[in-house]
Amino acid sequence: MTKVPSIPPSCAGGIKRARPALRLFFAVLLTLPLLSAETVAQDAALILTEAEKEFIRDHPVIRVAVAAHFAPFEFLDNHGNYVGIAPDYLTLIGEKTGLRFVPAVDIPFVDALKKVSDGELDLLPTLGWTEEREKIFLLTRPYYKYKPALVVRGDSPIKSVYDIRGQPLAVQRSTSNAHFAFSTLNVALSLYDSDGDAVLAVAEGREAAMLGYLPVVLYAARNLGLSNLNFISFSSEYDNAFCMGVRTDMPELRNILNKTLATITPAEKIAIQSRWVRVGDDGSEKRQMRYLAGASAAVLLAMATFIILKTYSHRKKIALHRQNENMLQEMVRQRTEDLQNQTRLAVEASNAKSAFLAKMSHEIRTPMNVVIGLAEVLLRRDLPADAAKEVRHIKQSGISLLSIINDILDFSKISEGRMEVADAEYALRDLLGDVEDIIRSGIADKPVEFTTHIDAGLPDSLRGDANRVRQVLLNLLGNAVKYTRRGSVSLAVSGAMIGDKSIRLSFRVADTGIGIRQEDMGELFVSFRRVDVQGHPDIEGTGLGLSIARSQCRAMGGDIEAASVYGKGSVFTAVLVQRVVERRPQRASAGQKKKRTATFIAPEAEVLVVDDLPSNLLVAEGLLAPYRMRIFTCANGREAVDLVMQRPFDLVLMDHMMPEMDGVEATRAVRALDEERCRTMPIVVLTANAMSGMQEMFLKSGFNDFLSKPIDTDLLDRMLTQWIPAGKRRNVPEGGNGAPV
Ligand code: ADP
Repeated sequence: MTKVPSIPPSCAGGIKRARPALRLFFAVLLTLPLLSAETVAQDAALILTEAEKEFIRDHPVIRVAVAAHFAPFEFLDNHGNYVGIAPDYLTLIGEKTGLRFVPAVDIPFVDALKKVSDGELDLLPTLGWTEEREKIFLLTRPYYKYKPALVVRGDSPIKSVYDIRGQPLAVQRSTSNAHFAFSTLNVALSLYDSDGDAVLAVAEGREAAMLGYLPVVLYAARNLGLSNLNFISFSSEYDNAFCMGVRTDMPELRNILNKTLATITPAEKIAIQSRWVRVGDDGSEKRQMRYLAGASAAVLLAMATFIILKTYSHRKKIALHRQNENMLQEMVRQRTEDLQNQTRLAVEASNAKSAFLAKMSHEIRTPMNVVIGLAEVLLRRDLPADAAKEVRHIKQSGISLLSIINDILDFSKISEGRMEVADAEYALRDLLGDVEDIIRSGIADKPVEFTTHIDAGLPDSLRGDANRVRQVLLNLLGNAVKYTRRGSVSLAVSGAMIGDKSIRLSFRVADTGIGIRQEDMGELFVSFRRVDVQGHPDIEGTGLGLSIARSQCRAMGGDIEAASVYGKGSVFTAVLVQRVVERRPQRASAGQKKKRTATFIAPEAEVLVVDDLPSNLLVAEGLLAPYRMRIFTCANGREAVDLVMQRPFDLVLMDHMMPEMDGVEATRAVRALDEERCRTMPIVVLTANAMSGMQEMFLKSGFNDFLSKPIDTDLLDRMLTQWIPAGKRRNVPEGGNGAPV
């Protein structure tokens, strides 16, 4: 590359203004090589990847190593400003990307190379391409090309490089032009320290011709105020081009520079070119006239060139768009494939999690069924008062443990966004009665008074999700009892109709318990978060209840609000919307109904209970005893199918998971039997698997109904009432207690 010394300030004032037309002509001429096939700029939009944008955010300032006083490519002006063709390109890139390029000036060239290859500085803006450099730097695409030129006086007979054979030729001593001249043209060389000195020697007649790079010699001539010169440009193997060198650990910067360079338009290139490479004015009238004529031709030529380039650029643009489109399609295909893989992995993980939860739920619920069920069976016996109290505690603890398992299952469903809300008819006052019973048995002998108030005008027959409403109430009332050592807990139920068809129910649960600090109120509904644990280390919990209850209320179109005075008590109000089936309120009110163990007896009915665990069979037999039905039992599906073939049972209660043949297989086998009664015989699945979606699976497999373990005695009673034929049922009057066990 040609080195040009910095411009002495005294020469700067001697620059004469060239005619605009001439300037344009030269600008176009000099820009032609820039517009060669691979460098025709595209005014395409700059599209950066996320990683590139992030790089710009993280590295807004790029430190540029400025080595050479290398006019007009890059050098310091009289005021010490970093100027030239390369800085102009950097300014443009900065405008397009937001990057700021800050020069570290006046570093010896060898040091500049080292600082960028060591990563101390980021960028070298004017590097010629070599194989070695490609190993130490990340080189951008060439962005500026230029050619050698012969400089002769205006009246010289020399018209081409070949005319100088045999004559001495001036060159700057370290330039590659010297080698070219020497090896190709075989001429004697006069060596000069700078291109400027050599150009001056030609202008003053001391040399017949000099060889340099066109932009350099034009710039030197202009700065020296020389206008009596001709410049004969030509192509050779010494055509040169600049790229930028980026430190190797910044590949994003190289990509950003390449993409931005590709968006620099021909107009922008011409503007930079004409700013730095212009010819001077010789002051002679004749020459001016000649230039004027030439200028007109140049304008025409420039216009023609412009039109050709525009057409060419347009074609390139279309080709580039096609290329981009293909790239985009490939990226989209790749992304889609990645997403499909990720989705598959996520689905597999989610299935594994669901399978694990189902398994855990089943494993824990099975023994809980025995604990709660047998406690219930025992409580129906005439136990001594002490023993009855202890058994009640066993049952209550079993129920608490079950509610924790339910909470964890619910939490996993909610966090997976899989919470379904059922839509079935139910009686509000029955639901409230059940809740009241459970809460009263939970209070047992704690000095806490429990009262309820239900608005008399509330409709009773509703549609919605009774189970979820029950869970919300049990959660709030359970907490109220748990966090109240003595005093009272109350439930007030009211409602406001929304049009004719729906009602906004409001459940207000108040207690005189430990209360909640004001600063803790925001934490109440956060999953797994418990507050004031140090203050009350003896009160246990998971921190899930309120967050689940709130999600449930929200899923039913409402919410929960809390108010509390620390040390005095709390009020939780749950609001939710249900549909109204019948607006008329029922006369019976919650808690008035006397609880019966069984609502009927059916001594002629025959029921088969299938379960592989003897303790589960014991529970089922105990819970069914008050109905005085004939109970048959067996230990797996295969035995069940054999028994069904022999006897026309009124009902089969079938466990799900059993060895040899499970409940689903057995039910399918029964349904496949020839006899009509086997296709219609009611089979109810008894399962410890409470995962959502299971119910649907069971119904599809041929079961008529679903009862989850641990068995809830009320649900059992409802289920039996539905499936034991009416002709075999005899009602037990209210207040009665079914059959003695
Ligand atoms: P936990 O299983 O801990 O009871 P919850 O989500 O039901 O979890 O409640 C979150 C926290 O809110 C509890 O740990 C408790 O500190 C507080 N809290 C809930 N209800 C009451 C109440 N009625 N009185 C006082 N504190 C309560």
